[in-house]
Amino acid sequence: METPLTPAEPMLWSGWGDPAKAAELPAPVRDLLAELLGVRAPATPAATFGEVRLPPVALPPPVLAALAAIVGDEHVRADDDARIRHTRGKSTPDLLLMRAGDASDAPDAVVLPGSHDEVAAVLRLCAEHRVAVVPFGGGTSVVGGLVAARQGFTGVVALDLARLNRLVSVDPVSMVAELEPGLRAPQAEQLLAAHGLTLGHFPQSYEYATLGGFAAARSSGQASAGYGRFDDMVAGMTVATPRGTLEIGRAPRSAAGPDLRQVFLGSEGAFGVITSMRLRVRRAPAVRTYEGWRFDTFAEGTAAMRRLAQQEGPPPTVLRLSDETETMVGLAKPTDLGAAGRDSGCLLVAGFEGSPGDVAYRRDRASAALVEAGGVHLGPEPGDKWAQGRFSAPYLRDSLLAAGATVETLETACFWSNLPRLYDAVRLALLGALGSPLVMCHISHVYATGASLYFTVVTAQTGDPLGQWAAAKRAANEAIVQAGGTISHHHGVGRDHREAYAAEIGDLGGEILRGIKERLDPAGILNPGVLLP
Ligand SMILES: Cc1cc2nc3c(=O)[nH]c(=O)nc-3n(C[C@H](O)[C@H](O)[C@H](O)COP(=O)(O)OP(=O)(O)OC[C@H]3O[C@@H](n4cnc5c(N)ncnc54)[C@H](O)[C@@H]3O)c2cc1C
Repeated sequence: METPLTPAEPMLWSGWGDPAKAAELPAPVRDLLAELLGVRAPATPAATFGEVRLPPVALPPPVLAALAAIVGDEHVRADDDARIRHTRGKSTPDLLLMRAGDASDAPDAVVLPGSHDEVAAVLRLCAEHRVAVVPFGGGTSVVGGLVAARQGFTGVVALDLARLNRLVSVDPVSMVAELEPGLRAPQAEQLLAAHGLTLGHFPQSYEYATLGGFAAARSSGQASAGYGRFDDMVAGMTVATPRGTLEIGRAPRSAAGPDLRQVFLGSEGAFGVITSMRLRVRRAPAVRTYEGWRFDTFAEGTAAMRRLAQQEGPPPTVLRLSDETETMVGLAKPTDLGAAGRDSGCLLVAGFEGSPGDVAYRRDRASAALVEAGGVHLGPEPGDKWAQGRFSAPYLRDSLLAAGATVETLETACFWSNLPRLYDAVRLALLGALGSPLVMCHISHVYATGASLYFTVVTAQTGDPLGQWAAAKRAANEAIVQAGGTISHHHGVGRDHREAYAAEIGDLGGEILRGIKERLDPAGILNPGVLLP
């Protein structure tokens, strides 16, 4: 068994990522935002750590002592620091609440189990005492997946899986590795790299999100065109539930009834705690190359993406198409934003990872298809720029929030034939709800039958930024449901998408999920309030 080599820096408590990378927005950009969007500095400065308001610890001392008896004294933490850092996730509303000093959703305690057996024992104890349990990976949920409903419970614990962080084994014959769920993505990549392997899962939350969170929320990474979604990688898993343990998956495919992996992929901690996973791995690529293509319009670029997704043979590893607005913003230096022309077209980034021969073959095929689809080759510069900045946008969100802009993202997916309708519907809903925001969109997860749309919205904060975004989000959700999209392609359901998810799966679908929940978690302690309609 191998443990990770470098622990990550603790995440900023009221923002995204590594505190060392936090930066203020340059004054010229602030001026430009004021001019273009009417952004003004917020009236109240963000709360300091010492100003955060925490509710008192509700868990009775004997329960805390019983938890400590399972995992060890030092692994049960009820101090302010641990509680604040395990409050909610990292959506923009989560950050706005923390910036306002509101930690009213904090867990009473953070429990850090060190093994599957300890997880199972904690669940049994919590079921006995009616303590709600929120499985906690990297804490990067953007759908309210880390806030437990307190009502009817003795208290709430965050079950932080950080100590389950081992590479358990590698089967190089089958190209399967067993890894524990608390590994953050870079730690997992580091451990696998020592064996010449990779998972190839690089979401924008890569620096902090964990393998368990990827499986529980059905994550999709930026290289999903080549490596697949995370749920495609899960060959098997071990799950602890209050009723006992499940070992799932003993062959790559099986006709032995319904696939129980699917019960837990996307279950967001409501049915059980994933304590180990057998994951499909790939050989680490010798070559990585990314390049840009220009299309006149988003419609033309979309047709080119579809062509690549539907052609015979292996697709590019990375495929990403920005609409006109996102292209314009991405191309312009921040200070040029106002002057950027309208004819920037749409940028498509195609990336290839693999052996030199494989990359050359796939690149040639893709290039021919892109030229036929009307694309103009822009060379490696836009691809390299994308690759260098691929994890930096969340840091910019913090700077924009501090400057008085609301920035948030949302995503959906549908079949190709419906994509233009869905795109228009969501854009119009956001424009209608927010007045004159900047609404940008890209396609970065494609399939033979359809694709996902990912929207980024920037607007001037009102005096009630939470209410402002809630209204916009409601409008976007309604538009997605009405236009036939799924309420989430890769962020999950959490609390924020519960109603729309209920509409998507219908009454009978909801009953099936509640039946599973009642069987596995009769006391209803696992992440109450998320997922289930
Ligand atoms: C800036 C930013 C960028 C993002 N970019 C992407 C992206 O590109 N692609 C993408 O797919 N997502 C993205 N996300 C969303 C988020 O990172 C993913 O949903 C990720 O899968 C969450 O992983 P995590 O380890 O942080 O899980 P957490 O946020 O800790 O938990 C997510 C959910 O899973 C449950 N859970 C966690 N671990 C377990 C476990 N072991 N067993 C059972 N349940 C568990 C939790 O209870 C919760 O409901 C982004 C988020 C942010 C903030």
